Amino acid sequence: MNELKPLLKDETEKLQPIIIAGPCSAETEEQVMATARELAKNGVKIFRAGIWKPRTKPGGFEGIGVEGLQWLKHVKEETGMLTSTEVATKQHVEAALEAGVDILWIGARTSANPFAMQEIADALKASGVDIPVLVKNPVNPDLELWIGALQRLYNAGINRLGAIHRGFSSYGKHLYRNLPQWHIPIELRRRFPDLPLLCDPSHIGGKRELVAPLSQQALDMGFDGLIIESHCDPDCAWSDKAQQVTPDVLNFILNTLVLRDSTV
Ligand code: PEP
Ligand code: MN
Repeated sequence: MNELKPLLKDETEKLQPIIIAGPCSAETEEQVMATARELAKNGVKIFRAGIWKPRTKPGGFEGIGVEGLQWLKHVKEETGMLTSTEVATKQHVEAALEAGVDILWIGARTSANPFAMQEIADALKASGVDIPVLVKNPVNPDLELWIGALQRLYNAGINRLGAIHRGFSSYGKHLYRNLPQWHIPIELRRRFPDLPLLCDPSHIGGKRELVAPLSQQALDMGFDGLIIESHCDPDCAWSDKAQQVTPDVLNFILNTLVLRDSTV
């Protein structure tokens, strides 16, 4: 992975840190639009929303599916934000590209699966589209598996790549939903200094109170951006409600983060 291109082509690239925000899941068109409008008003340039949700157990909300892609289109048309969603299969890739999603991300359960990663890489290669792809770390603390997932995409011709640190699952009760184990993303950075590295404090913390301190820690360690779950009515969210913050709270958090001096 030694010929990476800038992750984002336009002005958003120059925004440091890169901020991606939006709900865990797209639930209804009203929820997506209400959240997106508030985020855009506060200056967020990249919107996230899960359309297909990999849930640990069956029976929960598994995502709204392709219908939600039209809502993302609407977000883009109305607010001008770039849109992003998670893809886990060839069909997801094809549907998301067809709907004009701007940025794809690979979830932690998918990056742990080489067959799924290869299928996604092949689908992207076949599409011939030059799209940024962000790869979350696998659920388990396996740096080589994370790198392997990135390499499968790179070998398929995707060179606008980024990595997302979302913590690592472990058994038992901990302060964090997913342990940060910061040395792992830091080692990834040491090995691939040109690979943009984002932090997902929402899935690391699992609680909204932890979003601000984890975001600050990540920026202090030199992360290039943050992907944060934000919902217009977090307590009523259909997934991950404990960790989502309102767009106003997100705005407060972003405005109080201490940024690195990029001139040194
Ligand atoms: C998500 O971003 O909502 C998600 C499912 O994340 P992860 O793959 O990190 O668990
Ligand atoms: Mn989530």
